Amino acid sequence: QLSKRLQRLTSYIPSHAKTLSDIGSDHAYLPCYAYQKGLINRAIAGEVNEGPFQSALRTVQSLGLEKAISVRLGDGLAVIDRGETDVVVIAGMGGSLIRKILDEGSHKLTRETTLILQPNVASDTVREWLSSNGWTITNEDIIEEDGHIYEMLISSQTAQPVNLSEIECLMGPFLLQKQDKIFAKKWAIELQKVKNILKSLDKTEQTEEILQKKQQFNKKAALIERGLHWDN
Ligand code: SAM
Repeated sequence: QLSKRLQRLTSYIPSHAKTLSDIGSDHAYLPCYAYQKGLINRAIAGEVNEGPFQSALRTVQSLGLEKAISVRLGDGLAVIDRGETDVVVIAGMGGSLIRKILDEGSHKLTRETTLILQPNVASDTVREWLSSNGWTITNEDIIEEDGHIYEMLISSQTAQPVNLSEIECLMGPFLLQKQDKIFAKKWAIELQKVKNILKSLDKTEQTEEILQKKQQFNKKAALIERGLHWDN
């Protein structure tokens, strides 16, 4: 049984997609499921680490999917040729690693590529990268599973890229509009964390550095409060 998070990610595979690459695939559960459900005709499971690479091979072999799913060992997008796949999934890692993989391998992506990204933390750095590199976020989702909240970003290169504002980078342009109750829960928790940090900063000596940090966190708290009462 595929996790709710991985299943939800596969629901964003465009209907015209034929080939998918799952970068950092670990057990290759997502590409195997997508193939078995007929969502794609072929897939590449990329892994940089030997252990997960072997796990991916085992899953593919045990399901007899060797012809449809190619398991490749390599760093990020280095495992695919330019334009080889319609969809690239990068899920279950931190936002800065996803950003690095996109940045280092952006020459492998084309105007036809759909990105399905699921940063575990720091989605804002992924949105910043997309926004400043000609990519448009076309949809977003947020789910909760086993006590974790996961954000999902779908993106492609549109004729007129949409630049994101600071609050959109932080909280997500679609998630702000949707105002899902999981979104409200996530940001209420984040706001509390920021307020706790501000309280502890108040208790230390008010040096120039501390004052600057307080300014940054006050700004973040104000953005979050605005996002939690979004009406435009
Ligand atoms: N994508 C799966 C998911 O969402 O459940 C697995 C996530 S797992 C936590 C992250 C995987 O990414 C690990 O198996 C790790 O080896 C792999 N990984 C980390 N950096 C990578 C890179 N630069 N290129 C390819 N794979 C990478």
